[in-house]
Amino acid sequence: MKQQGSIIPPHVLIFPGPGQGHVNPMLKLAELLGLSGLKVTFLNFQFIHDQLLLHADIEARFTKYPGFQFKKIPDRMSVPRAERPEDMADIIKDLIERMKTSSKTLKKILVENSPPIDCIIADMLMGFVHDVAKEVGIPVIPFENASSCSFWTVLSIPRIIAAGELPIKGNQDMDRLITTVPGMETFLRCRDLPTCCRVNDLADPKLLMITNETRESQALILKTFEDLEAPILCPLRTRYPKIYTIGPLHELLKTKLRSIKKQESYSSLNPLWEVDRTCITWLDNQASHSVLYVSFGSIAIMTREQLMEFWYGLENSKKKFLWVIRPYSVTTNDDGVEEIPEELQEGPKERGYIVKWAPQEEVLAHKAIGGFLAHSGWNSTLESIVAGVPMICWPCFGDQQMNSRFVSEVWKLGMDMKDVCDRKVVEKMVNDLMVDRREEFVKSTARMAELARKSVTEGGSSSCSLEHLIQDIKSMSI
Ligand code: UDP
Repeated sequence: MKQQGSIIPPHVLIFPGPGQGHVNPMLKLAELLGLSGLKVTFLNFQFIHDQLLLHADIEARFTKYPGFQFKKIPDRMSVPRAERPEDMADIIKDLIERMKTSSKTLKKILVENSPPIDCIIADMLMGFVHDVAKEVGIPVIPFENASSCSFWTVLSIPRIIAAGELPIKGNQDMDRLITTVPGMETFLRCRDLPTCCRVNDLADPKLLMITNETRESQALILKTFEDLEAPILCPLRTRYPKIYTIGPLHELLKTKLRSIKKQESYSSLNPLWEVDRTCITWLDNQASHSVLYVSFGSIAIMTREQLMEFWYGLENSKKKFLWVIRPYSVTTNDDGVEEIPEELQEGPKERGYIVKWAPQEEVLAHKAIGGFLAHSGWNSTLESIVAGVPMICWPCFGDQQMNSRFVSEVWKLGMDMKDVCDRKVVEKMVNDLMVDRREEFVKSTARMAELARKSVTEGGSSSCSLEHLIQDIKSMSI
């Protein structure tokens, strides 16, 4: 506790879940709080911490904020790679369990940290952090990494079960309408539910794994913006009275950096992967809106068959494409070797360009990009929305199933290819997106991009939400 009227800035500890899609946005939040004068400790499991600090530019970028420190939980945590697409749910369930074994170490850090911690912002995926913080009497504001539409659906799972709408009874049941999620009664199908719902037995532990991590709280941080998810935020506020909608975070950070430090330009952070910037040079030589960007995020994995369907679909579409094929994103054979066919390893000859990892924010903002074939990860979706790029969604797991339904059915920003991987469908959708239905999509993506950008300007909803968050953290430290 500080003395009344203390001018010592509050100290916030930020603890993201262990993954690119979790660390990236929370690092942006950390920078936003650092910019506003708060002291920030950015805590990670050791393997993430070590990867982060491999990049000298990251340390340099953050240590200029007074009191900013990177800290690690020195436990032997790691995230195993999925061998097959269907392993993802088990890997996440196992990870949630293993993270709990760090409770003791975390408690020690929270109690002994100097200067003392006034407030914790922790990934909602890590319920154990909330429990430990409660034990030591430090307030926690949960940070939800998924979309609000998905989070609201996860919270509604007990209601869906009570109404007898779960479990899903096999493949033939996937198009049945789910009518018990408030705000989604007319368009949500079984196949759109978060993947934890894809079980045919209510006793399957995967079903409630995420619901079980969710903690009641007065406050909640969401990386969304009001104009995008207003109808869902309304019922969510009945559960979390104080919701801070601060998305899209990269755009908010960019805008703040520009306004606070006039001369400083924003560069996107890519702390966990080596970026191949040659793709930007390649894009510079392409016609406006002529290239389809293809990327399935940092975790999703596909089979060799699926890879080939995409490959032939893209080739047959005759459109140019920039494709991110991450190492270990394709199933391996018995010898542990990725099954990427030789013709693809050599790379496409004229129409395509393949990289292992791209500077995605920059790619999406490039004038040559006309569409995004994506896995509907929430960060990627928001980045595409801000850039006004229409999407073809091929969701893999988690909230991606929900996001793709909202992209296609609610926001009309693209098409949903969920549960299908067929070269003819890929070819048709690519042509629809880039040519035949382009006008229709460009209208809605341009409108939504404008709303996204408005939300982060001074007086916009996300910018105001961030100010409220900062003020509320300051009041916690008095
Ligand atoms: N990303 C990137 N380069 C790539 C692919 C992805 O920088 O080649 C970034 C992307 O901009 C996004 C994050 O990785 O911020 C992926 O997060 P998302 O929530 O979309 O998916 P996840 O990886 O969590 O499945």
